[in-house]
Amino acid sequence: MSKKKELIFDTVILGGGPAGLSAAIYACRGNIKTAVVDITMFGGQPGNYQEIENYPGFAVSGGFDLMEKFEKHADKFGVEKFPMQEIQKVDLKSEIKTIESLDIIFKCKSIIIATGAKASKLGIPGEKELFGKGVSYCAVCDGAFYRDKVVCVVGGGNSAVEEACYLTKFAKKVYIIHRREKLRADKIIQDRAFNNPKIEFVWNTIPLEIRGENNVKSIVVKNVITDKITEINTDGIFPYIGFTPNTELFNGQLEQTPQGFIETDAYMQTSINGVFAAGDVRNTPLRQVITAASDGATAACSCVKYLEQNQIKIPV
Ligand SMILES: Cc1cc2nc3c(=O)[nH]c(=O)nc-3n(C[C@H](O)[C@H](O)[C@H](O)COP(=O)(O)OP(=O)(O)OC[C@H]3O[C@@H](n4cnc5c(N)ncnc54)[C@H](O)[C@@H]3O)c2cc1C
Repeated sequence: MSKKKELIFDTVILGGGPAGLSAAIYACRGNIKTAVVDITMFGGQPGNYQEIENYPGFAVSGGFDLMEKFEKHADKFGVEKFPMQEIQKVDLKSEIKTIESLDIIFKCKSIIIATGAKASKLGIPGEKELFGKGVSYCAVCDGAFYRDKVVCVVGGGNSAVEEACYLTKFAKKVYIIHRREKLRADKIIQDRAFNNPKIEFVWNTIPLEIRGENNVKSIVVKNVITDKITEINTDGIFPYIGFTPNTELFNGQLEQTPQGFIETDAYMQTSINGVFAAGDVRNTPLRQVITAASDGATAACSCVKYLEQNQIKIPV
């Protein structure tokens, strides 16, 4: 078996989305030897959606284009990049921390966790089997496949209602299936949906099963007040019921909310010295590109200070 390569850094940033790339810019400018490691290519979630219109300075930008700018900016200050790294284990607790991928052992004095979050699953029969065959977690990525078709969005928050409105650009009808009789989405977003003739609300209803063989054909739902079970014919299902943080590697090592989001203070310091968290992965009231970038900047500056105050030596 070939021996793994060992690399030494002052800090390793896990995740190359808005939080991680912003942290990389600030860490490199703070003159610390910095690596950014991602399980896929860099860019994070914005790399997958078409437009972003609320990042200040860019009234409308492609998500991918904006992230390319973040990445080039980090390159300018000399970050070392490791895309497509499947991380197997992480030791956060020791003073010298280690991150092990299939072929590299990263040894470092500090870690910034910026691994983001992924869409929560409905956990019902048919969801896994029909993923990519009508079940999608990204309206912007897949909406165009539903021209003149019928789709269902599950959820009642901002993402669900915004994505439902977006889907009406293509679909002839969009059902919003929500377990309550009121939406959680902001008023302005709700108004847009209520005024959209293509949207029909299915209130007080939970999904039970997604049916179809090679493609989604229908969703079986239950009214939670009357217990009545019905089947809605549909070509696509878009669940938007919240997010689960990408923390499988760290669970149990640091303080987290019951949903798994990492607890930090205002300096992005986690419950472990020398470990910082930034962006969607942490317990935060707003999950957006700008807040992730802001967290990344704070985390990197706190990290630089931590390294100044703790003269840690890694034996070579
Ligand atoms: C459909 C949709 C539309 C949105 N629209 C907007 C919008 O218009 N405006 C806006 O401001 N925000 C929007 N957001 C939210 C925004 O995309 C997120 O808040 C932001 O991307 C969070 O950045 P992040 O860096 O924390 O996480 P992410 O963008 O999720 O990046 C995390 C990175 O970590 C990597 N990673 C995950 N696990 C590991 C691991 N184990 N090891 C190494 N790397 C790992 C991932 O591959 C990814 O590259 C939208 C989100 C969605 C889903």
